[in-house]
Order: sequence, then structure tokens, then C-alpha cells
Amino acid sequence: RTGIYHSLHQLGHDHQIPTQTNLNIATYVLSHFPGTAAESRLALIDSITDSRLTYAQLRLSVHSFASALHHAIGIQKGDVVFVLSPNSLLYPIICLSVLFIGAVLTTANPLNTRPEIAKQVYDSNAKLIISSPEQAHKFESTTLPVLITTRSASPNDNVVTVEELIEAGDPLGVPEVEVEVEEGDTAAVLYSSGTTGVSKGVVLTHGNLVAVTRLLRWTVDVSSAREDVFLCFIPMFHVYGLAFFGLGLFSVGVTVVVMPKFDFKAMLQVVERCKVNNMPGVPPLLLGLVKTENDRNLSSLKRVGSGAAPLSKEVAAKFREKYPWVELREGYGLTETSGATSYFVSDDDAKAHHGSVGQLLPGICAKVVDAETGEALPPNRKGELWLKSPTVMKCYLGNKEATAATIDKEGWLRTGDLCYIDGDGFIYIVDRIKELIKHNGYQVAPAELEALLLSHTKILDAAVVPVPDEETGQIPMAFVVRAANSELTEEQVIDFVASQVAPYKKVRRVSFIDAIPRSAAGKILRKELLSQTQSLASKL
Ligand code: AMP
Repeated sequence: RTGIYHSLHQLGHDHQIPTQTNLNIATYVLSHFPGTAAESRLALIDSITDSRLTYAQLRLSVHSFASALHHAIGIQKGDVVFVLSPNSLLYPIICLSVLFIGAVLTTANPLNTRPEIAKQVYDSNAKLIISSPEQAHKFESTTLPVLITTRSASPNDNVVTVEELIEAGDPLGVPEVEVEVEEGDTAAVLYSSGTTGVSKGVVLTHGNLVAVTRLLRWTVDVSSAREDVFLCFIPMFHVYGLAFFGLGLFSVGVTVVVMPKFDFKAMLQVVERCKVNNMPGVPPLLLGLVKTENDRNLSSLKRVGSGAAPLSKEVAAKFREKYPWVELREGYGLTETSGATSYFVSDDDAKAHHGSVGQLLPGICAKVVDAETGEALPPNRKGELWLKSPTVMKCYLGNKEATAATIDKEGWLRTGDLCYIDGDGFIYIVDRIKELIKHNGYQVAPAELEALLLSHTKILDAAVVPVPDEETGQIPMAFVVRAANSELTEEQVIDFVASQVAPYKKVRRVSFIDAIPRSAAGKILRKELLSQTQSLASKL
């Protein structure tokens, strides 16, 4: 009646949100490693090299590298460490070690260009760079210290690597290194454009990450998941991959098979070879599994997840038809909420509530707010989803204005997603009302591409909006006003953007118009442009 939805579920005793406030997320995860008797259990397997790490080795590696970071490199509590690498066995070791000593983790997509990375390094005030050898050239002009993860093929490499520091590290140094934190201390700064504008640093605290790890433990059901084999191709730089594979799942004791990046054929092979039974995924994975014929034995699969972008009802239905022995569980969340906020408790629920992203996870509250009146709406009415939860970010880094526009005084976070909640508490996301474009689950901020387009001497004005696309979810489309007498072509605009941004941000369609529709205050009227793209998409 109050218009506030509370979760219908509770965390069991083991998962209660802590009263203790000085819990370091790394300590929390390490303290939940399988007991000594099970420390020979495999924590990580590299899908390509087949190198393996037991829980005992993972613990030792974290202690060694944490000690090296602190003693040999001089990283202190609060220092920001910038990590640029594809998924690897070292990635979770780096995450846990940085957090263990109270330093702050910031991560980026390895596809990002040099200027995109330089911007984040500056914005986050990083003190140390950790990079895979293939990405290291992007830091050639930095004055910051750069650590390479592994030695590259070149014999002249005269650098110390993370791998060597782990081997040489002195785990005895650890007790002095572990740093106590307060709940509000920053643990990670991940980047998201939120509801408007360019990418901003989302400040997540140790308290946020402990809370989301508890939720993760609840969703996978710790008691039955201990023997599970999870496949990881979701990138660990994104909150989805970080919460699962960089941190949380090791508190459950599962085995994680790591792929450096998503590759459909290799994924099928790895599922068969490693008897993977759990696969957190994104809609393009589900589409691939539905559309492609293969003769791999996928009978080991028990559960496949979908998140980060909308999953079409048709694809979900076809998936269930083709793989009747696999549970399909959709979840929904944001970087600003440290990951998942809704999920299904059971497969029966998921089957019965077609198109829903599940119910609120324990401890999370929601409101569905009418855009015109600001009123909290009753069940089955559409409005913007607002969330309140121990997992909601502290703020956008150094940006009070954006923080105040996103989190209100009572702590409600505006998601920028349009939804309704049914009488049983199932959430249905029906549209995205924020500017954000999602291509293959990756964030593309229209404001960033618009600024780039406006830097072109032959472009007077520009706006970027999404066009629906079956395979990738959405593609960015630019509406461009050419300068007088300019003969600028669609191809030239596409090439101009492509040469300066990561591939997933490319503008893939261009339409030339006389004027960008704007409000009296100068705001782009995106709805008008969107209606044009929708008619365009239906003609494709
Ligand atoms: P990110 O911060 O990159 O995780 O992006 C968060 C946004 O992704 C949300 O605000 C939604 O717009 C979208 N999203 C995430 N999960 C889902 C889902 N299951 N269904 C629809 N949209 C989703």
C-alpha cells in the first residue's frame, strides 16, 4: 500500500547482512574458502593452457602478491590500482590482493583505446597500473609504475611480472599487510555512464561488495553448489564478472574454468571437456545456443544465466525447448548496485513468469515511480524502477551533481529502466529510458560519441541513439547535421568514429538530417529520434 516493494525472501542465517562494519571483502572471501581438508579442491582452470590452481595455491598466491604490492611496490590503503587485462587465472588473484591490503581496484575493458584508458587512469587517480603484456603499449607514455601480468614472448623483457612476484613473495609478511577497513571505505571504482552523460566512476565500498557476495552465495545455494564447475567468459572488468569470478564464487568453493574472452565454438568444447554445469551468460550466448547446431555433449549443464541486457521471450522459450534439462535463470542489475538485484528462486518460477527478470533479492527494496507525478505506483503499473539496497554505490567519484541526480536523500537509486512489478513481486523490465546503449552487454554512452562527432569540422550537430539488433541487442546510430556545403558521407562518419573508439562503441549507421530535435533548454529530444530508428529497424 505504501508503494514500496520489499523482498519476499530472506538470507539464511549464514548470509545475514553483517552487523560488523569493518569487514574487508577479500578477508570475507578468503575466510569462506573450503576448509583445510578441501583445500586441494581446484579453484581455477585455464581453458586454453589447462594450468590449474587449488584453493590452497590461490590463498598462498593472494598472500604473496598482497605482500609484494605493499612491501615491494609501496601500495598503501586507499591507493588506486588500475587493472587492464582479459580474463586469466591471475585476474582474481590481483583483485583479491589489491582489496586485501585496503587498496582500491579500478578495471577497464581491454578493447578500450589509449585515450579512453588515459582518461580513466587520470579520473580514478591511479597510482599503479597492472596490465597484460598485449595491452602494455597503451601505457608507453605514462609516468606511473606499470606491472605486467606475465612475461611476454619477447626475450628482452626487462620487467618484473605479477607472476614472478607471486612466486617470490613472502607469505609471512601477510599479517602486517592485511588492512582493516570501515564499511564505507572504497573497494572498487568501476565505470558506468548511469542515466545520462559520459562514463563516471561508480564508487563501491567494501560493505557493498560483502553484501553482493552474500546475495551471490544465496542465489547459487552454497550447500549444493560446492562441487559445481562454472564457466567464466563474462569479462571480469565488468561488475557481473567481477562479482562472480573476480571475488564471490571463491567464497562458495566452486571450480571456475576461465576463458580469456567469449568464443562460441571454444565455449562448447570447454563445456564438454570440463563437464561445466553452470554458465552465467548474456543474451547473445543464449541466441547462439538456440540458433547454432552442434554435436557437442552438453549434458553436464545444469544452469545457464542471462543478465546485463534484455533477453527476448522468444529466445528464452526456444532455449527451454532445445535444452529441456537446463535451468534458464535471468537476473537484472547495474554497476551502480554492485551487480544483481533480482533473480529467480526456482526454475518453476522462471518458467511461469515469462519475460520477467525475477524477484527482488533479499534485503533489496523497490519503488516503481511515475515519471510525471513522482508517485510510487501499485502492482502492474509502469514506471521507473528505483532501488534501495546495501549494495547501492556510495557515489559517483568526484561528481556530487551526478550523484545527487541519481541517488535521492532517502537513498533511492534511479535505475533509468522502465518496469512494472506484478502482484507476486516479479519484475518486468519493459524499456530503457536512460540514454545508455548496450551492445553485446557492453555500455556505450551516447554523450561520448556525440562529443566526438562534434569535434569533426564538417559536423554542426549530432545525436546518437540505439537501433534494436537481434544479435547484439542494440547498435549505436548517429543523426548528423552536416556543415553547409559539406559532402560528408555515411562511411566517412563511421570511419571517423571507429578510428577513435573501442570496436564495441562504433557508430554503425548514420542518417543526415537538417536539425537535431532539441527542447527549449537545448536537451536532445531522443524520443523523436528513437521513433525514427524503430521504423528503420522494422524495415531491416
Ligand atoms: P551495467 O551497469 O553495465 O550492468 O548496465 C546496467 C543496465 O543494463 C540496466 O540498467 C539495464 O538497462 C540493463 N540490464 C541489465 N540486466 C538486464 C536484464 N536482465 N534485462 C534488461 N535489461 C538489463
